[in-house]
Order: sequence, then structure tokens, then C-alpha cells
Amino acid sequence: MLYALLGIPAVVVGFVLLAMGPIGWFLAAFLGIAVLGAASVFGDDEEREGPARVNCPECGSRTEAGEACAYCGEPL
Ligand SMILES: [Zn+2]
Repeated sequence: MLYALLGIPAVVVGFVLLAMGPIGWFLAAFLGIAVLGAASVFGDDEEREGPARVNCPECGSRTEAGEACAYCGEPL
């Protein structure tokens, strides 16, 4: 549903830009690169979150990597 809400306007904008001619093509390419850049930034955020969170060896809860488990207090 979210992809449809975002995708349909994006397709419409893309067609309008392509119909505008070379200036529209440039803008479409620019927007495409911007969207891909934003997507890769969000992807990196998820990647960075991975190593920062660990499974507690005692209770198995997903917790922040640090000194102790946030759930059972066991040292990590
Ligand atoms: Zn724990």
C-alpha cells in the first residue's frame, strides 16, 4: 500500500518529466539518483544498526551492544 501511494505519483512525475524534453530528462535522472541515494542512506542505517545490537547470551533478547543486557542485566 505504501509502495502504491509513493509509486503512482512517482510514475506520473516521471512521465511528465520525460514529456518535457531534455530538461525533464535531466530532472528525472537527478530525481532518480536522489531517490537511489536516499534509499542507500536508509539501507546503511539498517546495516549500521545490525552490529550495534546483539542477542543476549543469557536470555536471548535483542539488546543494545554495551555493558549489560537491558532485559536481564547479564554482562555481555
Ligand atoms: Zn539478557
